[in-house]
Amino acid sequence: MESLREAARVLRNAGRVSVLTGAGISAESGVPTFRGPGGLWENYRPEELATPEAFARDPALVWRWYNWRRGLIARCRPNPAHMALVELEKAKGEGFTLITQNVDGLHEAAGSRRILELHGNIWRVRCTACGVRYTERSLELPAPPSCRECGGLVRPDVVWFGEALDPQVLAKAWEAAQDAEVMLVIGTSAVVHPAASLVPAAKAAGAFVIELNLEPTAHSELVDISIRGKAGELLPGIVAAK
Ligand code: NAD
Ligand code: ZN
Repeated sequence: MESLREAARVLRNAGRVSVLTGAGISAESGVPTFRGPGGLWENYRPEELATPEAFARDPALVWRWYNWRRGLIARCRPNPAHMALVELEKAKGEGFTLITQNVDGLHEAAGSRRILELHGNIWRVRCTACGVRYTERSLELPAPPSCRECGGLVRPDVVWFGEALDPQVLAKAWEAAQDAEVMLVIGTSAVVHPAASLVPAAKAAGAFVIELNLEPTAHSELVDISIRGKAGELLPGIVAAK
């Protein structure tokens, strides 16, 4: 396909590459997307559970959902799309930044290092009383668990609907978007802001933008190349092409 060859050529010649990933890159690992099949739990929509209001009302319910999601993700392994981004990072070095909306930790598990996790990480918890954050990989957590430091109520260290992103992480992501010669946007529906705004920002700052998604998105009209297909099937070839 011509657009695949063109994407490979542009990527190979770029010094500074920023990548934005969404739930779609982990779909082939078996992690359900929020908007695709398998995203529902006990007939709740994610928008009804991933909010500060839901947690204030019923922390046990929210934690039961997170325990279910943590259990699903624990069984998942990085797929060839995650691995291709590790290769791309090796090729670009300090010119590479991986911005992810995913909370599943699969980029890190694959071996990526220059990662900005915009929405946090499902394997970390944060205490609502003393503020301590720590990694908690146990799959046997009570719903809700209590803080190992102070006994207070802990929450998942993720960004919920209606909450602000970490300003330092967001600032670094803006910088990476605006400095990029090429931005690669993989498996994101482009509806969750401010993450979605990084794409027009990169474009306005002069980046060549390549989108890889199963379906057309709100970004498809704006980008330079829009490739339709599965990330795990197409990305390794795009990154490895000589
Ligand atoms: P989304 O669910 O809104 O959209 C997923 C996108 O991926 C869709 O556009 C779909 O067409 C595409 N897609 C699905 N399978 C694909 C494949 N194999 N290859 C390429 N594209 C594919 O996801 P989003 O845009 O990331 O927004 C959802 C929010 O929910 C995020 O902010 C994220 O924090 C959270 N979330 C995270 C995870 C995770 O960590 N894996 C999973 C679900 C939701
Ligand atoms: Zn505490």
